[in-house]
Amino acid sequence: MKVRILVSGCLGGAAIRFNATGVPLDSPIWQQWAEQGRLVSLCPELAVGFPVPRPPAEIVGGSAADVLDGRAEVRESTGRDVTALFRAAADRAAERAVHAGVGLAVLVDGSPTCGTTRVHDGTFTGVTVPGRGVAAEALRRHGIPVFSHRQLARAAALIAELETP
Ligand code: SF4
Repeated sequence: MKVRILVSGCLGGAAIRFNATGVPLDSPIWQQWAEQGRLVSLCPELAVGFPVPRPPAEIVGGSAADVLDGRAEVRESTGRDVTALFRAAADRAAERAVHAGVGLAVLVDGSPTCGTTRVHDGTFTGVTVPGRGVAAEALRRHGIPVFSHRQLARAAALIAELETP
């Protein structure tokens, strides 16, 4: 059975990030996935009503797991507490992934929602630390492997493994 992939909505270039930019991917792997109809695209932040552009947001006082468990917050650079919206966005991502039956997710790294290997450190100074975004953490909790947009070859290897009879 063809493995489908949940992908960040801004991957491929849609200009929907907080600063109204996208993340173009000039990759034959990506192109092939698109042609094979594997991609299930979602922007969790837009799905819960965030506009474009929007203030940057960062996880403050803990990890994505702490946000989901009520021990840390997500704040915008303005100071606005957007924790509940980010939790809702994470829920949307997990629901979409489960409903679509995806086998994995490929998400834009560095985002407080979609990050898979690094996120900003909560100081709004451009510093990043190892960690996941809130939606990536929710997907992981649902047993869905998450890869960054810089790990397409690794994701492709997992797909090949999953599709081996
Ligand atoms: S929330 Fe994810 S999909 Fe949406 S713009 Fe940010 S990185 Fe892209």
